[in-house]
Amino acid sequence: MNVPIISASNISSGYGERVVLHDISMEVRPGDFYGVIGPNGSGKSTLLKTLTSIIRPISGRVHLFGRDIVELSPREVARKIAVIPQEVSILFPFTAKEIVAMGRHPYIGRFRREGPFDREVIERSMTDTDTWRLGDRYIDELSGGERQRVVIARALCQQPEALLLDEPTSHLDINHQVEVFELLTDLNKKRNLAVFVISHDLNICAEYCRELIIIKDGRICLRGAPEEILTPETVREVYEAEVSVLRNPRSDAPVVTVVSRGTQ
Ligand code: ADP
Repeated sequence: MNVPIISASNISSGYGERVVLHDISMEVRPGDFYGVIGPNGSGKSTLLKTLTSIIRPISGRVHLFGRDIVELSPREVARKIAVIPQEVSILFPFTAKEIVAMGRHPYIGRFRREGPFDREVIERSMTDTDTWRLGDRYIDELSGGERQRVVIARALCQQPEALLLDEPTSHLDINHQVEVFELLTDLNKKRNLAVFVISHDLNICAEYCRELIIIKDGRICLRGAPEEILTPETVREVYEAEVSVLRNPRSDAPVVTVVSRGTQ
């Protein structure tokens, strides 16, 4: 079997004295499409940060293509994996194209300027995310959905093997949520890009992700195909919420729907 992109073995992680994640082992392989779900504060973002070397594990190891991630420079990491954090703060009014071009930083240094190949990657990343036509627009003048596609285009410029996103659709309406997940599906299929996406939207994860990882109290409490693990019992146990789980008549994906206290 090929080497995993990311491999975490028995990692514990946290902030200062505070241990948030306990003994997590998992792998991200080419073509994977993971949805990471779980209650607020359960450790999902901390897992993403640990897998991508934003924070160091307290114990255990993370390997990137078989090499211990702590031995790699940020540039080396950024050539293999791209992270889209929850809040992408873009302070200055750059154009969409300037923002996307920043994704080439891991390849361009003091001694090498942007060349024809970089420009080709920038154009392809923008075409694949349907942002090429927005190139000259200022980022702060774009809609939330357009801005998110620009941020994904910037990540693609890193030519990553895996894309890890922290709640990329939390501020978007349903149409734009679908647009982002359709784009991720497309990239996953066409480029074999591994996707690891944290989301609170169980239904959108069930519809699009091949596998779900449920985090509770800093541990992986369940993982598997959405239709196998999204049950009323699981949701009750993980979220302490009473729900019904139906099937989408068109896709057959599970659909979680709340049950009001009066009906229970
Ligand atoms: P989730 O993404 O599942 O909502 P997080 O990984 O963000 O959960 O947070 C897990 C726990 O770690 C929470 O209790 C949170 O308060 C704590 N935490 C997150 N970030 C920090 C930080 N920078 N410093 C200290 N504690 C943090």
